[in-house]
Amino acid sequence: MQIRTILNRIQKHKGFVYGCVHFGPSDKPPSLEVQLRACKGSLGCCSGCSQPRPGYDHMAERRFEFIPMWGILIFFLYALRRVDCPTCGVVVEKVPWAQGKETQCLSYQWFLAGWAKRLSWKETAEVFRTSWGKVFRSVEMAVRWGRAHVDLSGVLSIGVDEIQYQLGHKYLTLVYQIDGHCKRLLWVGKERTEATLEGFFDWFGPERTVALKYVCSDMWKNYLTVIAKRAAQAINVLDRFHIMSHMSKAIDEVRAQEAKELVSKGYNPVLTKTRWILLKRPENLTEKQEVRLADLLRYNLRAVRSYLLKEDFQYFWEYTSPGWAMRFLDKWCTRALRSRIEPMKRVARMLRNHRTLLSNWFKAKGALSIGAVEGFNNKAKLTIRRAYGFRTFGAAEIALYHTLGRLPEPEFTHRFC
Ligand SMILES: [Zn+2]
Repeated sequence: MQIRTILNRIQKHKGFVYGCVHFGPSDKPPSLEVQLRACKGSLGCCSGCSQPRPGYDHMAERRFEFIPMWGILIFFLYALRRVDCPTCGVVVEKVPWAQGKETQCLSYQWFLAGWAKRLSWKETAEVFRTSWGKVFRSVEMAVRWGRAHVDLSGVLSIGVDEIQYQLGHKYLTLVYQIDGHCKRLLWVGKERTEATLEGFFDWFGPERTVALKYVCSDMWKNYLTVIAKRAAQAINVLDRFHIMSHMSKAIDEVRAQEAKELVSKGYNPVLTKTRWILLKRPENLTEKQEVRLADLLRYNLRAVRSYLLKEDFQYFWEYTSPGWAMRFLDKWCTRALRSRIEPMKRVARMLRNHRTLLSNWFKAKGALSIGAVEGFNNKAKLTIRRAYGFRTFGAAEIALYHTLGRLPEPEFTHRFC
């Protein structure tokens, strides 16, 4: 069987035929070069207006990288025609296997983009003996295509979240769809200002915005302001994950400070290495950690009291009636405010200031996928970490859309993956 026969089976291009196949330069990694020719009498397609136009002249032969096989790199060789177009002038033709000035075939780019979902970009480049830059461009192409073809109908609930993508307080605002039937990343914006979130609503459009039923968010003021202004009909829910993480932060602060005090005063350093014990839910502790926790609870420490306050607050989420839940909240806040532990008092004041929004949690109960925002937050952080090597907003944005956006792909992409 000839290579040409295989190529005709898997990747036929209308108006073009495969010619002879030979080995590439012997001083380079093993490669096969496949000649591509335009069919006799066929017209080139104008890259400006996509219409068939008469030929003008030929350019020098170019190499287009195709999907490698058995460790052998595959290149198509083709001399692009220039066409004489009455509307666009003399321009280079558009070919079906590659876009613009790209030296990689489209199928190869989709192939790399597919693998870049399963492996890190660096690993993908290593496995397929290509460069990080080429993997990046492939993913970028896939994301552009997917974003242009994405279906945004039927979005009822969204979650707004922020993550840090660089050291030094550089934030991204992420908007997710968190409906039961579809969970995905919808939009990524730079910073976490009011203008950022306004940017989302501008992109999302007024018609889709009025159809929103629930918007989940943190207590971050910029977000709350914009949500109230742009999606006033939707119920703004403060989500459990964010509120509990404010509490965890407070405990962390108390613990770190108290641990230092114990050491400096020469007491038994009972708080060293207890960070995770105090932050984890009791049901997630290992047996050894359980023993340490039981031991720790005997001490009348500020960190322990904060921990108990946090654990007590978990009952809040179990209520079904908003009335009872609010009574619980008020009592809890009173206790926290009397605790004389400043970080916990800060949390209590914050919760009191957002009483109405907190009660919305109970209105939305059951309608929202509760763990969705937290799940996405973790995945987004992991994506940013795995995609290390780029420190720019653009690259982080592309990596996030690629892994979390559930973007559509053209039919043919799965043929090679
Ligand atoms: Zn044209």
